[in-house]
Amino acid sequence: MKLCLLVLIVALCTTGLCPAMQQTLSANTPTPQPAVYEVEDSDAFFQKAVTVNPARKNYSREVSALLGRMTLEEKVGQMTQLEIGMITKGDGDNIQIDPERLEKAVVKYGAGSILNVKDQALTVDKWHEIINAIQSASQRTRLKIPVIYGIDSIHGATYIQGSTLFPQEIGMAATWNPALMQRGAEVSAAETRVAGIPWTFAPVLDLGRQPLWPRFWETFGEDPYLAKVMGVAFVRGIEGNDVSSSKNVATSLKHYVGYSFPLTGRDRTPAWIPENYMREYFLPTFAAAVKAGARTVMVNSAEVNGIPGHINHHLLTDVLRGELGFDGFVVSDWQDIKKLVTEWRIAADEKEATRLSILAGVDMSMVPSDYSFSDLLIQLVKEGKVPMSRIDEAVSRILLVKYQVGLFDRPMPDKSLKGNFATAESRAAALDAARETMTLLKNDGGVLPFAKDKKILVTGPTADSLIPLSNGWTYVWQGNNAALYPKDRPTVLQAIRSKAGDKVTYVPGVSFDKELDIEAAVQAAKDADVVVVCIGESSYTETPGNITDLTMSEPQLKLAERLEATGKPVVLVLVEGRPRVINRIVDGAKGILLAYNPSNEGGTAIADVLFGDYNPNGRLPYSYPRTPNGLITYDHKLFETEDTSYGNTAFSPQFEFGSGLSYTTFGYSNLQIGPKTGRTNEPVKITVTVTNTGQRAGKEAVIVYVRDVVASLSPAGKRVRRFAKISLERGQSRTLTFTLRPAEDLSFIGTNNKPLVEPGEFEVMVGGLKEKFSLQ
Ligand code: BGC
Repeated sequence: MKLCLLVLIVALCTTGLCPAMQQTLSANTPTPQPAVYEVEDSDAFFQKAVTVNPARKNYSREVSALLGRMTLEEKVGQMTQLEIGMITKGDGDNIQIDPERLEKAVVKYGAGSILNVKDQALTVDKWHEIINAIQSASQRTRLKIPVIYGIDSIHGATYIQGSTLFPQEIGMAATWNPALMQRGAEVSAAETRVAGIPWTFAPVLDLGRQPLWPRFWETFGEDPYLAKVMGVAFVRGIEGNDVSSSKNVATSLKHYVGYSFPLTGRDRTPAWIPENYMREYFLPTFAAAVKAGARTVMVNSAEVNGIPGHINHHLLTDVLRGELGFDGFVVSDWQDIKKLVTEWRIAADEKEATRLSILAGVDMSMVPSDYSFSDLLIQLVKEGKVPMSRIDEAVSRILLVKYQVGLFDRPMPDKSLKGNFATAESRAAALDAARETMTLLKNDGGVLPFAKDKKILVTGPTADSLIPLSNGWTYVWQGNNAALYPKDRPTVLQAIRSKAGDKVTYVPGVSFDKELDIEAAVQAAKDADVVVVCIGESSYTETPGNITDLTMSEPQLKLAERLEATGKPVVLVLVEGRPRVINRIVDGAKGILLAYNPSNEGGTAIADVLFGDYNPNGRLPYSYPRTPNGLITYDHKLFETEDTSYGNTAFSPQFEFGSGLSYTTFGYSNLQIGPKTGRTNEPVKITVTVTNTGQRAGKEAVIVYVRDVVASLSPAGKRVRRFAKISLERGQSRTLTFTLRPAEDLSFIGTNNKPLVEPGEFEVMVGGLKEKFSLQ
């Protein structure tokens, strides 16, 4: 009754009928707690984050003066990126600069850029030593152009020992909280800068619409709008308002574009994406991040429609430069010019491959382990096969970014920044993020949260290791070097023990791919009140992570099945980078918590949710398949999930996009749209009231979907158009307002590859409420 009254009052006030009552309402409603990471309207956040600092300097005078003094060899040097192994000897901690090789790379060939290798993480001091040596060499060159060093800081400063690591992008997407994403990116940028490195190969803006793909977890999931808002938050966090500052670095948007949608699901294999579909789904994340001022772009290592990314002039030049207005530089991916010969067979030899990719729009080649690129490109220019104007264009872009990141003023690492590394505040933010990723998918009979006096059996291969919590790009490429992980961060098991002490028993049961002793786990369950089965995947990325079947490994399924058969309540904790099919064990489980890859604070975050010390609020950023071939995205056509009269069984995901439970409940009311009948050039306003109707405070991701009821290209059943992430105390309500701009938010890409808004009916869906409006 009280709730109805509240809803009525809010309804009156939001329609503008009662300014006086608005005061009464706020006096009677608990004051919102000032939550640190909240976003009331994804669009307001987006519009702010996408805006580039108007004071950003363009350096055109400096760039053309310097370019005018450069020889062809020096220019081509700037376009060359080598890997660190080209200037060092030794491995791991024993890595040392090799003075002769450094001289050859930086002084003789004038290499403009160097990048990390896959298997070592260095201390900040060691990085300083290496970067100092590189930049000292660059200062011995005729024009003293500094080298731009780049690393893959994709969820924190990857190759730097002791850095603060945030959840991987797929988990960050589950937070639906771009403010938190921006904070994570700020920490990542600051810690990368501490090492003296001004450039990260992040964010990944590929869409996760093919769950087999081994880089699925590097994405923000399947929805282009969510990924676009998160991507822009990432760019703003990394680049800040002044990319030259000692807390910011340059981004590289990758992998432009269409990389994530291979037909077979295997890494670096062909994708088939019609241009209108490319523009509808895969391009918007890049377009928005370019608008946000991103400094570099990395190219799709695979091919789309038979055209390898690295020779796709249409995408790299016509679209990226001509339409999106990108003014930074384009870097190739690893060895990809060579692969045009060895893999894609689009060129007979490396010289032709070099010509094709430079003319298509690649400005810098990640060669990375020899000097062939420089030698061949110099020949091509001398033979008139690549015009000098194209070289000048590429080099100008590279020099521009070097000026913008502040390299000409401060090429050397700054020791005074060390206080910005791995701070208590950044660790706290990483824990906030890990907690907010947690997605509770099942909680039958309120099995969760556990009382702390319960006897708990913990089992499974993800229970007692930090490696699966983090996944790839963690210290090293595959994230698999246990020695580099911090000793003071608890695994899931250790975090559960820290809450429930000696009432916890641990029996591993199985590894990822082998049975160890399932029987021992079954015996131990007899003594337990509840069983926590931690399963999922170990670490992987790129080609080593290819699989041919999404099904969870047989030993893990068997472990869960046997434990479920004991009759003890089983809670599954899924630590996985992509949705592994678990339909055999879903019904028998009382609770299911999806943790994605929350990284080093993940053990704590999982235990906090299991014991109710944190109220979960993550929402699935993808559709979790029920069967290996049951791949469908939430924005499918309506009929695809309806049984048809001719006996076609509907596709139904195991867990729907956007699902996620809380320990409290939220009520939605008073969905209002205005105008009900509008014009295609007029904004549409949506208001809705969200109330915490349960017993404890919680956060809620409010997701606004819109359906174009009839369209000339068969419409999706729904599309995400706005969202919010808010905190509500028990009993508290908040009325949210969202504004849609038809040209952007109600349009689709027509067969002419241009956005089209069609008059007609639209349906808004939010929190179980539905309301229609129409455009004339
Ligand atoms: C990956 C890129 C990465 C590059 C440098 C490539 O293999 O595809 O995402 O940035 O290596 O490490």
